[in-house]
Amino acid sequence: MPPAHPFDDDKLKEECGVFGVVGVADAANFVALGLHALQHRGQEAGGIVSHHPLEGFNSARRFGYVRDNFTSQSLMETLPGPLAIGHVRYSTAGSKGAAIRDVQPFFGEFAMGGAAIAHNGNITNAIALRRELIERGSIFQSSSDSECIIHLMARSLQRNIPERMEDALRRVEGAFSIVAMTRTKLIGVRDPLGVRPLVLGKIGDGWALSSETCALDIIGAELVREIEPGEMVVITADGGVDSVFPFRRQSPKFCIFEHVYFSRPDSIIGGRSVYETRRQIGVELARETPVEADLVCPVPDSGTPAAIGFAHESGIPYGMGIIRNQYMGRTFIEPTEQIRNMGVRLKLNVNRALIRGKRVVLVDDSVVRGTTSRKIKQMIIDAGAAEVHFRIASPPTAWPCFYGVDTPQREKLLAATMSEEEMREHLAVDSLKFISLDGLYRAAGEASGRNKSCPQYCDACFSGEYPVAPSDMIEKGFQLKAAE
Ligand code: SF4
Repeated sequence: MPPAHPFDDDKLKEECGVFGVVGVADAANFVALGLHALQHRGQEAGGIVSHHPLEGFNSARRFGYVRDNFTSQSLMETLPGPLAIGHVRYSTAGSKGAAIRDVQPFFGEFAMGGAAIAHNGNITNAIALRRELIERGSIFQSSSDSECIIHLMARSLQRNIPERMEDALRRVEGAFSIVAMTRTKLIGVRDPLGVRPLVLGKIGDGWALSSETCALDIIGAELVREIEPGEMVVITADGGVDSVFPFRRQSPKFCIFEHVYFSRPDSIIGGRSVYETRRQIGVELARETPVEADLVCPVPDSGTPAAIGFAHESGIPYGMGIIRNQYMGRTFIEPTEQIRNMGVRLKLNVNRALIRGKRVVLVDDSVVRGTTSRKIKQMIIDAGAAEVHFRIASPPTAWPCFYGVDTPQREKLLAATMSEEEMREHLAVDSLKFISLDGLYRAAGEASGRNKSCPQYCDACFSGEYPVAPSDMIEKGFQLKAAE
């Protein structure tokens, strides 16, 4: 498996990407392309399961990037058929960086045939479910929370696989966007709150399900619509799409961090361009936190659209003061101690000629531990900047995510232990400002900002208000925010 990237440990890590195709020849090839477009959602491992009417189910699961594994003709020839699903993973549950047995899709053989599932999200009652299932005789193969779904399906008394899946998912709490398959059907499901994304696309006579629209684009599929929160679609090879809503209806709570950072800027979420939302975050940030400066620079790449918006709104010139080395990949070197000490310089370099003598506004998407922000600030100062002002395109990240994003423990989050002024001192910058929650909501299309009595999004990592109680973590001692 690839070593953890030495410099990305100061970002929240999304999680997983899922993709599925039915009704096209050699569906696995399309799935591989889709997973490649979703690689930003998980770089640790990937897997594909396909079904061929004569050859049955086949699967391949590998550590590493999609492009390094699922481009080989000899491998792809082992995944024939018109129906396939796939998964890219950054482990959010189960053992981190561990075994191939944790790599999805997972497969289960039932009396009515086999089924494979790929899950994006995190089950917040997985520990309790696993305990119960093991007590009742289930034998788990992996350490992943997602495997609970297969065992719950096995115990269901329903007569077909989609109904067994409904049964299973009614027991599951937390976030799930699932792409699954039987011998003849492609299935997509979103949890009742719709925390993680899932979209439906059309490709020729076939259909595709994807975490994001950017992966539909790569295979030439057209976006049809989003799968709705709480919806299950069952798609057959002859082209029928059945939709059911098996769960109690609730007010949706899509992850607002998808807009800020996780999704690709060329994806469309809720009918809005992610790029445009990020640019608008920069506009709101400039209105809320003005500053006198000479240059607005993004921390590449994720800070770029917000920096463009900030520069446009403030009238301060925009420039690429930090240049990212596009080819800094995991293949370059093992992260030895010496290389680690070079830190962020291997990935980012300062454009000295542009920075020297200037009052610089640095726009970044988030501050998690603050370790990278400190290094970047030092690079800018070393390059001769007169002042450094950080502007952050998300509110302070003060709470961990339990819905499929890898976050440090609460004590490790800078904003959990320091006030804004203390963070500014810690980062040793001239000013540090974050967008407000209301500003973020406005940028995401909610003109009146956040509805405090019923927020339109999940924003728990900023607000501490968890739309689904993280019951496993509470059992382990996690303290929820005290009621105000
Ligand atoms: S806690 Fe934050 S990262 Fe997690 S789903 Fe909610 S908004 Fe997204």
